Amino acid sequence: MTIDQLLEGYRRFRNGRYQEQKALYTELAEQGQSPKTMIISCCDSRVDPAIVLDADPGAVFAVRNVANLVPPARPDGAYHGTSAALEFAVLHLGVEHIVVMGHAQCGGVKALYEDLDKGADFIIPWMQIVKEARDRVRSSAADKPHAEQLREMEQEAIRVSLDNLLSFPWVKERVDAGTIQLHGWYFDINDGIVWALDQKTGSFRPVE
Ligand SMILES: [Zn+2]
Repeated sequence: MTIDQLLEGYRRFRNGRYQEQKALYTELAEQGQSPKTMIISCCDSRVDPAIVLDADPGAVFAVRNVANLVPPARPDGAYHGTSAALEFAVLHLGVEHIVVMGHAQCGGVKALYEDLDKGADFIIPWMQIVKEARDRVRSSAADKPHAEQLREMEQEAIRVSLDNLLSFPWVKERVDAGTIQLHGWYFDINDGIVWALDQKTGSFRPVE
C-alpha cells in the first residue's frame, strides 16, 4: 500500500470505525487506559495482534520487536525498550495476562537460524537472546525438513521468552501469586490459525 492508500484508510477509519466507537474513545481519553492484557509480538507487517484478535482500542497493551523476544532482566542502564514496556504494563497498568505471540515465517528467527549476514549491528546481537535455543533445535530437529526446523525454532523462542519473563522479579512474584498469567501463542500466517502453548505438556495446539 502506498502512503496515499494508507491515508485513505485513515479517512475511512475516521468516518467509520472511529465514529462507531466514539463513546469508547472518549471514555479512554478521559479515564485513561486500563488494558488487562499485554502482548509481545513481532514487528512483522503480517502479524498485528489487534487485527488477529479483533480487539477494541484500550484492550491490548502491545509491544512489538524483532521476533517477539523478551530479553532477560538486566537493569544495567542500557536502552531496554521491551523491558521498559513490560515494567509499565506490570507495575503501572497492573495487567493480568502477558502473551508472547510468535508467528510462522519470522524473518528474525530465520536470520539467526540460518546465520544470515544481515543486521550485524542490531538484529544479530538482539537475536542472541535465543542463541542457545537455536543450538538446541539444530541438534534436536536436525533430521526434520528445514521449514519444520524453523517452526520449531519459532516456537522454542516463545518458550525462552516466557522463561525470561520470570527473570523480572515483579513478574515472577505476580505469577507465583496467581495475579498474572503467562501465555505463549503462535500465529500461522498462511491459515490464520493461532496455536497456544500448553504449559503442562510444552506443546502447541490450535485454539478452538
Ligand atoms: Zn517475526
